[in-house]
Amino acid sequence: VVALEHARKSFGDVEVLHDISLSVAPGEVVAIIGPSGGGKSTLLRCLTLLERLDGGSLSYEDVSVATDGSYGDKNVLAQARARFGLVFQNYNLFPHFSVLRNVMDAPVCVQRRDRAEAEAEARALLAKMGLAGNEDKVPCQLSGGQQQRASIARALAMHPQIVYFDEPTSALDPELTAEVLRVIKQLAAENMTLVIVTHEMGFAREVADRVIFMDGGVIVEEGPAEQVIDHPREARTRAFLAQRE
Ligand code: ATP
Ligand code: MG
Repeated sequence: VVALEHARKSFGDVEVLHDISLSVAPGEVVAIIGPSGGGKSTLLRCLTLLERLDGGSLSYEDVSVATDGSYGDKNVLAQARARFGLVFQNYNLFPHFSVLRNVMDAPVCVQRRDRAEAEAEARALLAKMGLAGNEDKVPCQLSGGQQQRASIARALAMHPQIVYFDEPTSALDPELTAEVLRVIKQLAAENMTLVIVTHEMGFAREVADRVIFMDGGVIVEEGPAEQVIDHPREARTRAFLAQRE
């Protein structure tokens, strides 16, 4: 679905991603773990075109976004943007739009889909996220967990081939976390392609086909959860996991 090769990213003269290569296959669920400042969010921001690579290549299947750090034109970027959805830590819903409008706005305004059809789909997605009956509320009338599930519905409404999550539960209380993790697990069970930055080791172990441990702007170790989380090979991975017990 997505391939990143030899990616480099600097802020000023500090390089924060050093030669990262990563590809995600259809239906794969990848969890990215690692200490603060390790480059996880920067990696997701490069994959989702919120930041530009300084070197390396990025492609979404047939859409070559960047080659050796030089990017395609506006149309290429727009084509790539249609392939993925992104869910942040802080929901990022439009505060003055209803929940329903938050979900159907981009399909109607960006993808020019039929309004009635987009609304029906938005209602179905909200129901699937356990939010039936909340369509006409504004985001501040929902709990944090409900807002996060609404932002997942919003991402899914664009029919992405891959959905990225950056610490989707780190702003939530434990019981609200559980309900958000439950819907992400459901998406994984439906064979959606997901990349999830998370500090929830139990969740990563349960849901991920592959776990990537990042530290210092490099991928230190990757593999099945049983390997990376339960039997890490690298001292840095062991130290990180031990400190989280
Ligand atoms: P956390 O677990 O705390 O979210 P992270 O793994 O997501 O950490 P990043 O946010 O990707 O880490 O940060 C990686 C490095 O890049 C850090 O040293 C950070 O200070 C730096 N950095 C990130 N964004 C910027 C920016 N816009 N300008 C300058 N430096 C940045
Ligand atoms: Mg981060």
